[in-house]
Amino acid sequence: MSTSRLQLSDEQRALVGTVRELARDKFRDRAKKYLDGTYPWENLRDLAGIGVLGMSIPEEYGGSNLAVFETALVLEEVAKVCYPTSMALLGEVGVQVRVISTYAPESMKRDILPKVCSGDAMLAICMTEPHAGTDVPNYRVNTTLKGDRAVVKGVKTLISRADEAEWFVVFSRIDGTPGRDGIGCVLVNRNTPGFEVTARYHTMGGENLAEIQFNDCEVPIENVILRQGGFKKLLSAFNTQRCLNPSISLGLAEGAFEEAIKYVRDRSIFGHPVADFQGIRWKLAEMYRDIEAGRSLLYRACLTANPFPDPHEAAIAKMYVNEMAIRVTSEALQVHGGYGFTDDYPVSRLYRGARYGTLGGGATETLKDLVGKKLLSDFDPVDGFLGMKTF
Ligand SMILES: Cc1cc2nc3c(=O)[nH]c(=O)nc-3n(C[C@H](O)[C@H](O)[C@H](O)COP(=O)(O)OP(=O)(O)OC[C@H]3O[C@@H](n4cnc5c(N)ncnc54)[C@H](O)[C@@H]3O)c2cc1C
Repeated sequence: MSTSRLQLSDEQRALVGTVRELARDKFRDRAKKYLDGTYPWENLRDLAGIGVLGMSIPEEYGGSNLAVFETALVLEEVAKVCYPTSMALLGEVGVQVRVISTYAPESMKRDILPKVCSGDAMLAICMTEPHAGTDVPNYRVNTTLKGDRAVVKGVKTLISRADEAEWFVVFSRIDGTPGRDGIGCVLVNRNTPGFEVTARYHTMGGENLAEIQFNDCEVPIENVILRQGGFKKLLSAFNTQRCLNPSISLGLAEGAFEEAIKYVRDRSIFGHPVADFQGIRWKLAEMYRDIEAGRSLLYRACLTANPFPDPHEAAIAKMYVNEMAIRVTSEALQVHGGYGFTDDYPVSRLYRGARYGTLGGGATETLKDLVGKKLLSDFDPVDGFLGMKTF
């Protein structure tokens, strides 16, 4: 749609064009087969082939070190046609990779990051626990430091790519230190004795999630990437997710909108195309308006990144775009009539994928709470309302 109006650089335009071509030529036809949890390896190999798997990794480790904005543009293009592939790609460029490339020791970066770029190694992120997802201060997984070793114990759940990843970036309490400040992060290889996938969940988006038990997994002390007090750093890296997760939502909304336009032009009822009804044209206008509003908020947030985005801007963009995508994909499905509800039409897959956005990468309610608190604390009764301060 309208990325051209943003005056992208030649390089950005070429990148978007290459990914768009690949997504339309190959991913669109394959999308249906990933509904049953089949991992989109084939598509990831194609993405490795055009060099985008390492796009958030610095050049010295084989990546192209693209900014959050370019990464978001790529995810958006993929999401337009295939939600499971966009989620798989998010795993390649998301918080886990940024934690390693920003905070891990040099030897670990050299060992792991080039393999991520080539598609030979995959990282998963383990934050959520069975009793606490958004409730971070109550995470229980603990790592005990013992000389040159560290021992990880506890359960994580709803983990993406648990059956595929080689390495797991685990948010963990260190030495039982309580509260948010006690949380750091440790790297665990899936071949470590005590690592076990203990439950699997199939999602409405198509992908599988899993529960993982760390039964006294002993790792070298160097694998403890961040210790007590490291949570603020983890959160900075996590802010990137607040831009990348909604870039998938934006792509899903655009993909669904395009499907809606095609359908209402082609389908004839009462002797003329569905598009001839004014009520339908109003829906299209509102969908387009909401997509473009979301795009503005999201791109603006992405462009604050240095290297991580401004948390407030990113939270506002994420809140809006995730909810917008649910509305727009739902309306796109509606104008398809009953066919839209079947697996045979792409719009149903895009709708299901869009439902994920408000849950992951910072749940909407949590973000609204954070944004609301900041608005209250920033309000200046003398200077006027804070929104005006941006001018
Ligand atoms: C497709 C998918 C992939 C995922 N992949 C991963 C992964 O790879 N790694 C990982 O660690 N996790 C992953 N998750 C889990 C996800 O991060 C959590 O589901 C999310 O953080 C929410 O935690 P929860 O499910 O425990 O909800 P809870 O924390 O139990 O929250 C329940 C509800 O309360 C709301 N809530 C929270 N705080 C407030 C508040 N202050 N005011 C009002 N309401 C509030 C929440 O928004 C939610 O609606 C994935 C989830 C999905 C759906």
